[in-house]
Amino acid sequence: MNRVLISGGSRGIGAAIVRAFARQGDAVAFLYRENHAAAEAIARETGAIAIPCDISDPTAVREATKAAIKALGGPIDVLVNNAGMAKIGLSRDMTDAEWRQICDTNLTGAFCLCREVQAGMIVQSKGRIINIGSMWGKTGASCEVAYSATKAGLRGLTMALAKELGPSGITVNCVEPGVIDTEMNRMLDAESRAALIEETPLCRIGTPQDVAAAVVFLASEQASFITGQCLGVDGGFAI
Ligand code: NDP
Repeated sequence: MNRVLISGGSRGIGAAIVRAFARQGDAVAFLYRENHAAAEAIARETGAIAIPCDISDPTAVREATKAAIKALGGPIDVLVNNAGMAKIGLSRDMTDAEWRQICDTNLTGAFCLCREVQAGMIVQSKGRIINIGSMWGKTGASCEVAYSATKAGLRGLTMALAKELGPSGITVNCVEPGVIDTEMNRMLDAESRAALIEETPLCRIGTPQDVAAAVVFLASEQASFITGQCLGVDGGFAI
């Protein structure tokens, strides 16, 4: 049984990851920003502990990590940096505040969580960190410059931290989803969805469960010699 902390567990991919770890008997806590009703529903369904925390605030991350460690009864064994946000629009129209919010959430939030869980992992000489990037971090998405930049940043964070923490028995990997059916993509009209399916070699949109399965694998014993890797879960879109 592992103690697992997941950011952004109230909805979408994060909720599927919470369910997958809870189903295999792990002790799970998750962070969310504001959607209390959804978070409570997932907590009730899975037995996981829901902790409100805006991960763009480093002090809040520190407090929430302490709360998770206390509630789970010991150091975090598995951290999944899943929480993220996107904003579509021309880069020339993006305000400083919007740029900062995306960077603070997607990249700084993940970094802060990595920093807070490390001490406990190092003491135990074991740990798994799994960052949820995006295929757009590899290929770049037009009109999603900030989002793509933060997801590319997660690739660098993953590789650097894997080198730094490997000698302490901690693996760090990144899962890069393609187009996944969550609220993040609700704005897509039928035509855009059809075009994305057309571009995907496996001819479908992904599910949150597709991503959760890869995360659970990277957290498992079977993945103990895998670190610093970026695994695409995108139906072949980014090949
Ligand atoms: P959703 O928009 O469906 O859910 C986002 C989750 O993150 C929610 O739980 C939300 O909490 C939480 N969250 C957002 N901002 C913060 C914050 N500042 N502090 C704490 N929690 C926050 O996203 P998805 O499930 O679609 O995406 C999950 C991850 O997967 C993201 O990192 C995303 O970039 C990545 N991804 C998604 C793809 C897709 O096609 N859906 C494709 C590639 C990558 P709350 O409910 O309280 O708002």
